[in-house]
Amino acid sequence: MSAQVDCIFCKIIDRKIPANIVYETDSVLAFHDIQPVAPVHILIIPKTHIPTMNDVKESELPLIADIHRAAQEIAKQFGIADSGYRLVNNCNRDGGQVVYHIHYHLLGGELIGGLRAL
Ligand code: AMP
Ligand code: ZN
Repeated sequence: MSAQVDCIFCKIIDRKIPANIVYETDSVLAFHDIQPVAPVHILIIPKTHIPTMNDVKESELPLIADIHRAAQEIAKQFGIADSGYRLVNNCNRDGGQVVYHIHYHLLGGELIGGLRAL
């Protein structure tokens, strides 16, 4: 689990900067977003430093499954499994990515707007 120097999320994984952690396994960490845009706004990250979705290797695909498992568990933990939620990964500039360590936003607790129904 190689930490990237200057990566804010690697620093959270290494407990070098604080975060409000809500879920942790050997492969995944989840914590409250510092600037929430919904009543429930949790970030779920792999403990491996992967800059973007484009960089996920075949061997790392199980980490993506682990993140989805974490989302299931956290949604239950926060009581939003039945009311529903959105799980979002932003990739690169046009996707609105700001932190270049893969993360999924788990958003819920109210009707999440901003995207048309697909
Ligand atoms: P993105 O635009 O998908 O890269 O989202 C990055 C997210 O990380 C934003 O929603 C930020 O509010 C959040 N964020 C940045 N720094 C921290 C931090 N130290 N602790 C928790 N969330 C953070
Ligand atoms: Zn990182």
